[in-house]
Amino acid sequence: MSHDYDLFVIGAGSGGVRAARISAGHGARVAIAEEHQVGGTCVIRGCVPKKLLVYGAHFAEDLEDARRFGWDVGTPTFDWPTLRDNVLSEVKRLNGIYTTNLENAGVTIFHDRATLIDRHTLKVGDRTITADKILVATGARPAIPDVPGAEHGITSNEVFHLDRLPKRAVIAGGGYIANEFAGILNEFGVKVTLLLRGDALLRGYDHQLRERLHLISMQKGIDFRFNAAFERIEKRDDGTLSIHVSNGDPLEADLLLYAIGRPPNTEGLGLEALGVALDANRAIVVDADSRTNVDNIYAVGDVTNRIQLTPVAIKEGHAFADTVFGKKPWRPDYECVPSAVFSHPPIAAVGLTESEARTKYRQVKVYTSDFRAMKNVLADRNERALYKLICHPVTEQLLGAHIIGPDAAEIMQTMAVCVKAGLTKAQLDATVAIHPTMAEELVLMR
Ligand code: NDP
Repeated sequence: MSHDYDLFVIGAGSGGVRAARISAGHGARVAIAEEHQVGGTCVIRGCVPKKLLVYGAHFAEDLEDARRFGWDVGTPTFDWPTLRDNVLSEVKRLNGIYTTNLENAGVTIFHDRATLIDRHTLKVGDRTITADKILVATGARPAIPDVPGAEHGITSNEVFHLDRLPKRAVIAGGGYIANEFAGILNEFGVKVTLLLRGDALLRGYDHQLRERLHLISMQKGIDFRFNAAFERIEKRDDGTLSIHVSNGDPLEADLLLYAIGRPPNTEGLGLEALGVALDANRAIVVDADSRTNVDNIYAVGDVTNRIQLTPVAIKEGHAFADTVFGKKPWRPDYECVPSAVFSHPPIAAVGLTESEARTKYRQVKVYTSDFRAMKNVLADRNERALYKLICHPVTEQLLGAHIIGPDAAEIMQTMAVCVKAGLTKAQLDATVAIHPTMAEELVLMR
């Protein structure tokens, strides 16, 4: 039976765009539907605009430190609308590039919502379209707590568009987005409080780095309220939010940002009616080839809730395209996936944390370097970096690497290759340092 397309992709985010372009390159007739802007969370309302805000925020410290390096910078002032509008126009430019790249690859774009009618038929706006294979790449969305007054808060979708910066912000959550925006808003002069339901930041990262980020964040003026569950949110006539939590007095703020996880976008797609299996978190269940239990329907990226990271979604989309349309089957490797939190200062990691390694090997060798970056010393900035290597107790093979400090993510990308390649501590030691750098600590730890 012939269909309108060989592949129909729902969602033009990182995973969907990669899958569509590569499949088209393999000769498939491909269409993609996107109800918002082309590029998805990462490009439009995530990684990219966030990183630009991180750069913008860091000038607060750079301008202060510049004085110690002899610069007269007067009294710097910051204009949020200028940064916001420049970031949004960069996002618009990237949206255009993503659209052009899809068109150049021969992919038909439908700027509409697509829903499944049966396993080969979709409703796309008011059209009915058929496809041999369907790829669901609809991503995830920010969670909103189920409490009275929740509508008074915003999410990371809206934070890039604020008319003005608040004086006081409460950020709910202690994960990636909470720590990144705590750093950004704090550098812009907003009084930030992080509100956590539990007692730990950044679960999943090494405990020493998490403690270091907590300490430095407090030194920078960020407040923390731990073990606090939402009860209700009230908005007063003057716009002030009163955030009632399970422990202590209500928190007052002008802005409440929810950063409490991102559930998969599986609602309203027609998946249940087709019998596509979802897990307890309503993520699409897929096998190692990203295939669902309905054998012509596949899913990649955050909607499958494997690892919610852009580069992982891109690999999944690419592997799908090569496997299904390119006669070159391969599978993404989920071992040793490096990651970073663009907090102030940033954290980056790959491989096992110390406690994960101790659980697995009982004994491990741990090397740390706790130092003040040369630039911070001259700037009289009392902010210490921490580098940590976790090694096998006998072979000293690298099991994990963890960094908090300036440029942590940039340095970690290379270190991730070393850990992934199974190098040993001796091989790091055999490498000559590049002096003076921060990264040289990695080959100088004793
Ligand atoms: P995270 O999963 O990083 O953190 C969620 C936080 O919210 C945790 O502190 C969690 O607490 C808390 N939480 C969960 N549910 C509730 C609830 N019902 N009430 C109160 N608190 C709650 O989520 P984010 O939203 O920050 O980010 C989503 C994902 O997006 C990340 O996991 C990451 O994969 C990706 N991302 C990656 C970035 C990067 O690579 N730099 C940047 C931004 C996002 P607890 O610890 O107790 O569970």
